Amino acid sequence: MNRKKAFLSLLLAAALALGAFPALAQEAQADLLVIGAGISGLTAAIEAADIGIENIVLIDKLAYVGGSAFLSAGILGGYETQKTKSLDLHVDPKDMYAEQMREKHYTLDPELTWITTEKSGETIDWLIDRIGVPFLDEVGTKDGYGTLETIHQVEGGGGSMRAPYMDALAALPQIHLEIETRATSLIVEDGKVVGAVVDRNGEISEIRADAVILCTGGYSSNRELFARLHPANAVFQQSAMPGSTGDGLMMATAVGATVNNIDQLQVYLREYNDMVSQTPYLYNLFVGLEGKRFMDEKRTAQTYNQEIKDDIVAQYGRDGVDYFYAINDHAAMEMFDLVEDAQTRPGVVIADTLEALADKAGMDAEGLKQTVETWNQSVAAGADAQFGRTRSMMPIGEGPYYALQTTFFSSVCHGGIVRNALGEVVRSDGTAIPGLYASGEVTANASSNGYTISGAVTWGRIAARSAAAYITE
Ligand SMILES: Cc1cc2nc3c(=O)[nH]c(=O)nc-3n(C[C@H](O)[C@H](O)[C@H](O)COP(=O)(O)OP(=O)(O)OC[C@H]3O[C@@H](n4cnc5c(N)ncnc54)[C@H](O)[C@@H]3O)c2cc1C
Repeated sequence: MNRKKAFLSLLLAAALALGAFPALAQEAQADLLVIGAGISGLTAAIEAADIGIENIVLIDKLAYVGGSAFLSAGILGGYETQKTKSLDLHVDPKDMYAEQMREKHYTLDPELTWITTEKSGETIDWLIDRIGVPFLDEVGTKDGYGTLETIHQVEGGGGSMRAPYMDALAALPQIHLEIETRATSLIVEDGKVVGAVVDRNGEISEIRADAVILCTGGYSSNRELFARLHPANAVFQQSAMPGSTGDGLMMATAVGATVNNIDQLQVYLREYNDMVSQTPYLYNLFVGLEGKRFMDEKRTAQTYNQEIKDDIVAQYGRDGVDYFYAINDHAAMEMFDLVEDAQTRPGVVIADTLEALADKAGMDAEGLKQTVETWNQSVAAGADAQFGRTRSMMPIGEGPYYALQTTFFSSVCHGGIVRNALGEVVRSDGTAIPGLYASGEVTANASSNGYTISGAVTWGRIAARSAAAYITE
């Protein structure tokens, strides 16, 4: 070793000892690395173990597992399940498929959406039989989840899935779960994905594997990425998991994956100051600062949110603020038992007349009065000529009047990595990236509301089976 090299080695050793550089160590080879332990990653790891893969590493960057599904209400659509059969309910999957395509305005991949739909019942039965997830016995329709009697609900909400999933995991020694372990990039050798670089609280190392499944969820919590991928999406506040920062999207695109539907989000109506409040759904009219309506307010209870999102973005653009007002009269507030609460709630403006309400809220008073007059005529005529609203056609009557500062939050991303029917991640030319699979919200979604958790489970299993076939080839 010459003197310069010796000096550099000494410097490197000193730097490592002082912690200036993170140590880079190579770990033992796994058969399969699953990145992200939300419901899709948990499912993929369990399915891989069940079909004989022996050394599976499952990592999550957070200190807990389960992702969004364990925080959700646990609503899953499916047909011909053990629950629907016992109720003698029979829904044609072709109708389910057609409804999802319609609701998402045909932005979904037809082949993949058919697979999500066709397997939705089998997925619910798998959750019951294999994992032990408790479901309520009733199955039916639910506001916001389409018109077909397919909606199953986890008893006690999504959180009730945690214990059975953890029990299933604990019974599978083939799965090594590591929390607080963040994948930062994928390792590619000879054109194949062979593992990932991971960061454990600043300690950097490699996890090598014959195949990798990305299950890192969406990107709602990463505002910078939101703005970069689709600037208009950046105006929405977010109510997703802290782990939903688009890591998988960035890792996959860095190795050649293509993405689509990146402008598509699911947005939820919330109070400007309260990301969980459902109260705005109880208000009658939505108006911008000109006091004018801009959408069918009751459309928000339907399953397709993208068009609402676009209406809101346009309204924010006109007003230059990222909120609008939801308006009710006193009778409606009394009916919904909101009068007392409104007195102290941040973001609520109350006044005896529409003019005073507009003044207090910074709206155009003439615009608001005209809007209310037109709306009341529409209610009397039984038709909303402006926006075609058909639900909850209630007039705005006597004051006092209430205006609630309202906005939309994003929680679910419908855009993401493109994968094929085998769950293989593909490039823009449609060819698969060897060794790389993806499932769940990190992928370009192939389902409408109510089929997102179900899809994450279905596709976690598909990706696991495809990865297992690739590993054992
Ligand atoms: C509040 C809420 C309610 C919902 N309700 C419903 C519902 O009732 N029905 C329905 O169908 N859908 C619902 N959804 C959507 C659905 O829950 C999600 O789309 C689905 O659970 C996503 O699962 P996933 O495993 O793909 O991703 P996630 O649940 O997002 O899990 C991804 C995991 O990957 C981890 N991760 C991310 N990056 C890395 C990295 N670099 N390294 C390691 N780990 C990483 C994250 O920490 C996280 O644990 C809801 C979503 C939210 C936010």
